[in-house]
Amino acid sequence: MTVRVRIAPSPTGNLHIGTARTAVFNWLFARHEGGTFILRIEDTDRARSRPEYTENIKSGLTWLGLDWDIGPLFQTERFHLYEKAIQTLLDRGLAYRCYCSGTELEEMRAAQKARKEAPRYDNRHRNLTPEEEAAFKAEGRQPVIRFKIDENREIVWHDLVRGTVTWKGSDLGGDMVIARTSESSNIGQPLYNFAVVVDDLDMDITHVIRGEDHIANTAKQILLYEAMGAKVPQFAHTPLILNPQGQKLSKRNGVTSIDDFRKMGFLPEAMANYMSLLGWTSPNGEEIFTLTEAATQFSLDRVNKAGAKFDWAKLDWINSQYIHKMPAEQLVELLVPYWEEAGYEIDLKGDRPWLESLTAMIASSLTRLPDCIQESRLLFGSSVKLSEKAMELLQQEDARQIIETVIAAIEGEGKLTETHVKGIVKQATKAHKVKKGLVMRSLRAGLMGELTGPDLIQSWLLLNQKGWDKMRLSQALSQL
Ligand code: GLU
Repeated sequence: MTVRVRIAPSPTGNLHIGTARTAVFNWLFARHEGGTFILRIEDTDRARSRPEYTENIKSGLTWLGLDWDIGPLFQTERFHLYEKAIQTLLDRGLAYRCYCSGTELEEMRAAQKARKEAPRYDNRHRNLTPEEEAAFKAEGRQPVIRFKIDENREIVWHDLVRGTVTWKGSDLGGDMVIARTSESSNIGQPLYNFAVVVDDLDMDITHVIRGEDHIANTAKQILLYEAMGAKVPQFAHTPLILNPQGQKLSKRNGVTSIDDFRKMGFLPEAMANYMSLLGWTSPNGEEIFTLTEAATQFSLDRVNKAGAKFDWAKLDWINSQYIHKMPAEQLVELLVPYWEEAGYEIDLKGDRPWLESLTAMIASSLTRLPDCIQESRLLFGSSVKLSEKAMELLQQEDARQIIETVIAAIEGEGKLTETHVKGIVKQATKAHKVKKGLVMRSLRAGLMGELTGPDLIQSWLLLNQKGWDKMRLSQALSQL
């Protein structure tokens, strides 16, 4: 059997983290099995579907490194298939037209509520006579198509994540609506549970891997497969993603779309890595891997049943691992947009070696990409602004003299090396008979304007390459 799986997002919003995680699992499974991964856009809800959401879904999947082998296929281009299948069910007496009005359905539900019964359609139009149907039509009622559900059936399947799942036919809410009709079409608008079965069949899907919130739909869909005389695919229901409090992750938790994570400065590799861990554990307990590496080890029997708690600290840790091991030549290109946004004057072409050195210096302090703004803010520009503490320090006689000595030492010198600047520190320590710590603190205050920050020697060398070290030290003295 050649594995064929799909991700079937509805373009009614941007790519959601839950959908993206399901896509990751489908992709990993397909790649592990040497199968086919299909992207199907479920856009039958025309009122809520938008082309820009389709674009966002495609670009989000691509950003994460998830490539699809077939698609995107659009349900709105496949209506002929749904119409045909509906007609077959009608012809075979497995589906029928129901003419109940909205008010009648509401009254039915209110009465059920009053009797403390679960809301369900009571199948009242299942056996209309041709005369009754004609009368409803004459009233101008617009029917829906309902699929007959056998209340006495027990639906059982072996879920590849959850084991045996059993569902009672009587718990499916009565005969289900599979399509709405309209003036222009007497079959009309197919609904999700129906279109999904027609498509999964037509596309020879072997494994349906999707969120646990679809379990009740699966029971309904199995009945539809049977009605169509088709082989039922295997099902794997993945755990929901929960917020740290254990509730379903929702818009209220702030970020939910993949775009939001991108904007927050997470790397796609880190995001994809983290998502593969949302409900799956690798056999050897490893936590840092590329999608391709994960695919070699992926199996559905290692997907957990319990909900997967979204853990920001873990995502941050994974992101930092990827940032720290990325070569500076590559990382610098990701940082430039943030520096530009922060208003720092950047010229990547002309300034590349300097920017790469800066990147190499701050990389180990970055967790998310925008951290580069804070980490490098004291290194841009020829001027220095003394904080109150830096000012206090430099107002001490010793400190001021140290700065004067250093200015004299670098006067007329060109580009300094690390050995060189270390030598100057030593020289100043000796000359003023002070501790090295005071020299370092004074220099940090004079060069950076603050008493804490990135590595001082490296920062000095960076400023020196621009000729800003002397300018800053002199300026610092003039502010005292
Ligand atoms: N369009 C459905 C959704 O976005 C697809 C569910 C499925 O995979 O069957 O939830």
